[in-house]
Amino acid sequence: MAIEQSKESTNAAIIDGKAFALSVRSDVTKDVGILKTQHNVTPGLAVVIVGADPASQIYVRSKVKLTTEVGMNSYHFEMPADTPEASLLEKISDLNKDPKVHGILVQLPLPKHMNEAKVIEAITPSKDVDGFHVINSGLLATGGQGMVPCTPLGCLMMLQNTLGDLSGKHAVVIGRSNIVGKPMAQLLLNANCTVTITHSRTQNIAKITREADIIVAAVGVPEMVKVDWVKEGATVIDVGMNRLEAPEKGPGKTRLAGDVDFSSVAKKAGAITPVPGGVGPMTIACLLKNTVTAACYQNNISL
Ligand code: NAP
Repeated sequence: MAIEQSKESTNAAIIDGKAFALSVRSDVTKDVGILKTQHNVTPGLAVVIVGADPASQIYVRSKVKLTTEVGMNSYHFEMPADTPEASLLEKISDLNKDPKVHGILVQLPLPKHMNEAKVIEAITPSKDVDGFHVINSGLLATGGQGMVPCTPLGCLMMLQNTLGDLSGKHAVVIGRSNIVGKPMAQLLLNANCTVTITHSRTQNIAKITREADIIVAAVGVPEMVKVDWVKEGATVIDVGMNRLEAPEKGPGKTRLAGDVDFSSVAKKAGAITPVPGGVGPMTIACLLKNTVTAACYQNNISL
């Protein structure tokens, strides 16, 4: 359902993240209904935003809207950019104690005067629906059950939906951030892939990606992955979200570009995610899924 053969002159199946996210959100809506009617629990997600970064505000608005759409309670806190770090930590401490709040998300990036690691570590691990807490990354690395970061989780779900069993596949992850690259590599390893992680100091990345059955690009360099980087029939997941100027659309207009040169790579890949409409929608759907998981865990419920 979430995979479409492209109608354009591409060979690749287009992995429709928008449609897949819709089906994940529909499953979440059903789970929320069961939690409410059979267990008297309404999952609650608290989103805290510090400062007025326009991109962050757009994400947060969309998170709030979709949270209420699936029947959860949404708690939204805006703090000014000059908020002292201690005040943010106090807010997190209150949310940690609040039984109505099952998931806490602090929108990143934070203003420069705040220590992101310290703020993330202040969130109770079982409420850390972003999966960034060191306890959750440790659990992921050791094969335990913790909160899994939403973007890599969404990528893994799309890969499994497209390819089935990933066992034995060679996966190359481009990027090694704590938010995407490292947890993505860990999830692929847990799914029995042979994983190579590449980054800004890797020599001749194209030689490595040409060997890959799966490429996950999480770099932040627009259209970096070119057609000659990709093996015929490979599956390509593009995490990149780069805003570029688009004078052809009119003065001051912009367009969103991924880390993959979609138009050329789609002619050679077996399957590929578009930008927009690929990884992005799945990230928010996985956030809602994680909030249900958190509510179940905190109330000792298995669905
Ligand atoms: P990040 O923290 O900046 O990490 C980027 C990674 O790419 C780093 O590991 C860096 O290597 C590597 N890199 C940078 N330039 C490179 C180059 N020329 N060749 C090879 N590797 C290079 O970024 P991030 O948070 O992981 O995000 C990556 C992209 O995904 C961004 O475009 C971001 O907007 C997007 N994103 C999308 C979603 C979504 O929901 N769709 C979610 C999160 C992020 P070093 O470690 O050596 O510096």
